Amino acid sequence: MAAIEHTSLLHDAKGAGDFACTVCREEVALTPFERRTDDHGQVYDLWMCLRCHAILNATHLRKVRAGDDFLSLQADSSNDFYAVDSAYLSTVADQIDACGFFDYLFKVYPGQRRGVLIDFGAGRGIVAGCGAKYFEKVYAAELSLNVLRQVQAVMPNRDRVIVTDDYKSIPATFDCIASMHVLEHLPNLRDILDALVARLNPEGTLFFQVPMLLRAHLVSVHYTFFNEVSARSLCRQLGLDVISISYDNDLDFLNCISRKPSLNDQARPK
Ligand SMILES: [Zn+2]
Repeated sequence: MAAIEHTSLLHDAKGAGDFACTVCREEVALTPFERRTDDHGQVYDLWMCLRCHAILNATHLRKVRAGDDFLSLQADSSNDFYAVDSAYLSTVADQIDACGFFDYLFKVYPGQRRGVLIDFGAGRGIVAGCGAKYFEKVYAAELSLNVLRQVQAVMPNRDRVIVTDDYKSIPATFDCIASMHVLEHLPNLRDILDALVARLNPEGTLFFQVPMLLRAHLVSVHYTFFNEVSARSLCRQLGLDVISISYDNDLDFLNCISRKPSLNDQARPK
């Protein structure tokens, strides 16, 4: 096996260190995958990581590496994307009722503890609001809090929800990290996930949903396209055991739920 991998990496590696795999940090064992056009005619240079098989938006990862300020790009796009009006605010409770993420989580992982949830990249806060039905405390973390605060003000169970733009200062460890449609936006996703998972309690979960690779999902602020291989690889690198990988085939989204081993499992020799 080692020989096969070595040969393949040797022949196909084209990475020049001008960007890195967002999932495994690889800079050399990267290779051109294909070029695709988005809905506006922009051509994207997509590369594949030969170690974890993530598909990477090389066009924009190179720009980030060259110094583009992706955080302000993200904050601007999140404010525009998530802008809300009073008509929207009147639907918040119904939207929270319609959110099925946690019912699904409890179904595939009945052992899920219901202490502290962090919704990382909370957007408008619907997932956090849904989590507040089940968890004792919910941290809703987002780059820009304008919209999130408006939605929180009309949310059921809002006293359980704490909004923050500084996840590092949260004074808690987590039973669940939920991150819905966020990881694809983060060129530095490993820095963030490494920090969050370090504060995940034993037997706690990481639950994420990401858009799969198709034209409608090609936008400049989507840096990573996960598939099943790269999702499993990410979990392995984070020291998590995969519980479930599933697909929303109507929308072409991938769901991944993984779990930190129990203290007993962690003590056991591998
Ligand atoms: Zn990789």
